[in-house]
Parts: sequence; structure tokens; C-alpha cells
Amino acid sequence: MADNILVAVAWPYANGPLHVGHVAGTLLPADIFARYHRLRGNRVLMVSGSDCHGTPITLQANREGVAPEEVIRRYHASFIETIRSFGISFDLFTQTYTPNHYTCTRAFFLKLLNNGYLRRESALASYSESLRRFLPDRFVEGICPNCGYTKARGDQCDNCGTLHDPSQLRHPHSTLDAAPVTFRQTEHFVLALDKLEPKLREWLNSRDRSYWRTNTFDFTSNWLREGLHGRSITRDLEWGVPVPAESEDFKDKRIYVWFDAVIGYYSAAIEWAERIGAPERWRDWWQNPGARHYYFIGKDNIPFHTIIWPAMLIGYGGLTLPHDVPANEFYNLEGEKMSTSRGWALWAQDLQDRFRPDALRYYLAASAPEGRDTSWYWSEFIRRNNDELVATWGNLVHRVINLAHQHFGSVPQPGDFSEADRTILEAGVAAFSRVGGLLESVQIKAALQEAFGLPRRTNQYISEQEPWKLVKSNPLRARTVIYTGLQMIDHLKTLLCPFLPFSSQRVHELLGYAGTVAPLPVVEEANDPEGCTRTVLTGNYGEPSCWTPGAIPVGQTIRAPELLFEKLEFEKTDEATQTI
Ligand SMILES: [Zn+2]
Repeated sequence: MADNILVAVAWPYANGPLHVGHVAGTLLPADIFARYHRLRGNRVLMVSGSDCHGTPITLQANREGVAPEEVIRRYHASFIETIRSFGISFDLFTQTYTPNHYTCTRAFFLKLLNNGYLRRESALASYSESLRRFLPDRFVEGICPNCGYTKARGDQCDNCGTLHDPSQLRHPHSTLDAAPVTFRQTEHFVLALDKLEPKLREWLNSRDRSYWRTNTFDFTSNWLREGLHGRSITRDLEWGVPVPAESEDFKDKRIYVWFDAVIGYYSAAIEWAERIGAPERWRDWWQNPGARHYYFIGKDNIPFHTIIWPAMLIGYGGLTLPHDVPANEFYNLEGEKMSTSRGWALWAQDLQDRFRPDALRYYLAASAPEGRDTSWYWSEFIRRNNDELVATWGNLVHRVINLAHQHFGSVPQPGDFSEADRTILEAGVAAFSRVGGLLESVQIKAALQEAFGLPRRTNQYISEQEPWKLVKSNPLRARTVIYTGLQMIDHLKTLLCPFLPFSSQRVHELLGYAGTVAPLPVVEEANDPEGCTRTVLTGNYGEPSCWTPGAIPVGQTIRAPELLFEKLEFEKTDEATQTI
């Protein structure tokens, strides 16, 4: 029975290009997970998009003397190009600046209001006397009231994870000009998390959450221990979704960007269904209690996805709640936290312009910040590429396919299998459930490690059997060993496909198969009803499932081998390092 799996990926904020942490922390693990489930024959819907609202975008637009739309258009286009070149298989990568998203956000707001989960409250808001404007939380910094961290943001402390109000910070100041921040009364709509708390607790306690990652589980428990309070969902801003309240007071206010951004997971599903001409299909994921929703996010976003968004969904009613929130830790560069302002960042597109996508995917998956902060190291990238991709997997494919192509031209008929043949073939078959089981539980790194143990073993088997000698001394035995090698490569092509789709597709073709095992996303135009044209990333991934240890057909043509991976020299990376 096929399951419905929603793969929901954190929405990158459209005010700067994607760095390598976006890929390692959210995009790539989500893609590996989605590709695996499609190979399993499950119905996957993978969505995200550019997060387009909030003050950082208007500030940037002001600085450049352009409209906010221009800033969004630029970074959205760059996201699409980067995500496409990494082969991230979105069903839809859209943006929050669309008529559909505005409609969905307004509907969410009004339904929560009618259900009694929104209320108006007058509150103190951060105000900059020097700039004579209200300041969004992220432009306020101060000392965390909980742990004393000196660089706590207005809404959240990155050190201890506590969410708070900017007025609770000690020595609050503006990050724009370092001037002290004052607080002024202003009226806003508040999400009544206090009122939603009993239902939220009931949902959380009604199910076994032992499969949640430790960080997800702990952040959520710590946050609930404090008890929930109302959280404002409107702001004194000029850019964003207008507040759908009739009152004149709200004419100049907008929906707070976090509230509309999480609704994107839902609005993107509706937009996708419209695009494919089956406008009701989103319900198979969103109005289906049997569907499983996975949110691939960074650890700084945990409470939004385990508490606030589920509370919004409960308040709205009738929509599917998260199944798992496999949050990753931070990804650093050479052991140091990346910082755009200090120029210490590694841009995803710069890497993509210099290296093959699977070389990058392999290292980023192997070094992913799963369970702890990790880092990109140039020396490790080169070592793993050369030792593991080139010398292990690439070498196995090249030597076995070369022998088969040269001596038989096709998959040879094997003779009786020896003990050694049977052992390696059984390991190949067993890997499907082992790697699959790890991917099911979103242990991406462990799954890659498990899968990659097999090319090592198969290489060793080939080295021990020495088929290049057997072709002269014992042709029957040579056929059996080469058949076994080809069968293992066929298994590995599938086992590694979620991680290395570009090379798995090539191996599939070298083995004489037609068709696609690793479909890639495509860029398309979207025409919104209001006449704006924008691009989206989408794809047709409806290929037959093949996460099974199938038998390679004897007699199938084997093509001439080609190099799958490129050995990297230090010069090439030196040049890349200089540009960071
Ligand atoms: Zn703190």
C-alpha cells in the first residue's frame, strides 16, 4: 500500500543567496528522503519556496532604490537555479508572494478568528527613536533573560532556544544603528496559544514521539514546560500580507512574516494541485489523517514547527498535523560559524559552478549536521571525493563495466555461484531493507554509510576474484564473477540513487537500461491570475518504483564505461577557496 508523504522544507528568506548550510541542513536531506520514498512507490509531495515578506527585504529594497518585488525576483531566481543544479526534486518550489498564498493566509487568519483563537491586544512594540519607526524583532538584540547570552535576538535566544518578547531582553538595542530601543503601545492580533495549549498537549501526548530527534524533542518539551502565551501575528509594517480585518486601525499593518511563511507548506500544496490540473489533489496530503508530514528545518526553527504551526493547524481544524520534524544542527565552514557580514560563507552556487553535483551531494550528505554541529572542510571534501567516490564506487563501476563491455558486450550468463559470490549477493539484497529502514527513520548519514559499505565490499570481492585473469584461465568462472559484479552495481545504483541521482542515472544507462531512475527538477513559468509571471521549480517524478533487489537481465547490452567522478586536485579547490 502506497503512503502519502509530505516533505516540507524550510522556506529560505529571499534577501541573499543560498549558502552551503541551506543545502546540507535542509534541502539535501529532504531530497534524499523524498527520492527514497518515491523509489519505494509512495506518493510524495515535496514543497517549499522563497519567503518573501518582512522588513529585511524592504530595507534592502530601500538601500538599493528598487521595489521589494525586485529584491524577491532576484533571489528567487537564484534559489531556483541553485536548487535545480543540485537536483533537489521539488514537486513545487514557489514563493509566498503569490495571489494564492495571500488567499490562503487570509483564509487561515479568518478561520482562526472565527474559531476564537485570535484576539486583539495592545502591546509594547520595539521602537527606534533614531529611525522613527517600529522595529521588527530580528533588528533588536540584547541580553537573554534566561541564560545571559549577550547576542539574543528580539524574539529568540540562539543559545538556549527560549522564545521571548523583545521587551524581556536586558539592554535592548537596534542592530541597525546600535541605538537603544524603546517600547511603544500598539494594537495587534494575537494567536491565542494559551487557549490552544490543552489541545496541543493532548495531540502531543496522544502519540509516541520517541522517534523524534533528541533536539526536536527537548526543545519542544522545554518550551511547553514554560506554558504557552499569546503571540502576535501582525506587525507595524508596510510589506506583507494585508490584515483581513475590517477595522481602519489595521489598514497600515501586515501579517507578521512567520505566520504567513508556515502557511506556505499548505498554500504550496494547493498551488501544486492547481498547476497539475487536479485542484482537489492537495487534500490527499492535507485532509488525510493517514498522510505523514515531515518538516526538514534547522534547529532554530523547532518551536515554530512542533508548537506554533501545529497549534495553528489545530485551531484551523481538519488539516494533517506533523509526523516528524527532523531538525538539523548548524553547518559551519572550516570549523567556524558562517557569517555573511564577515564574508565567511560558502555559497552553494559557487560550489555548483566548480564541481559535479554528486561530488557535492556526497560530501554534504556525509558531513550533514545531524545530531551535532558539523562543518565543511576543503581537505575532507577532496579526500572523500578522491578516496570514496573516485577510488571506490567509481572504480568499481569502471572496472566491472569495462570487463563486461570488452569481453562480452552484454550481461554474461553466470555458472554456479561460489560461496564468495553468494555472500556478496546476499549482502546486496539485505542492504535494501537496512538502508531503507535508516532512511524511513530519517537517519540520512547512517543510511549513506550503510549503503556505501557495499561498494567497498564489492571492490574487495572483485580484487580477490581477479576476473581479468579468469577471462583467459577460466571463462565460465569469469562470466560468473562479472555477472555478480554487474548485479551488485545494479543494486548499488538503486541504493545510492537517493544520494547520488546524477551518477545513478548514468550507471543505469551503462548497464543497458532505458528510462529514468533519477528524475530531475525543471524550471517552469507560472502565470498568476493577476498577470505576474514568475518561475517555479517542479518536475514529473512519477516513475515506477524500484526499491527492490531486481535481477539484471542476462544478455542486456553493456555500454562502454565512462568516468563518473572527477579526481580533484588541490589547485582547483584553492581557486574556489579564494572566492569565499
Ligand atoms: Zn538564552
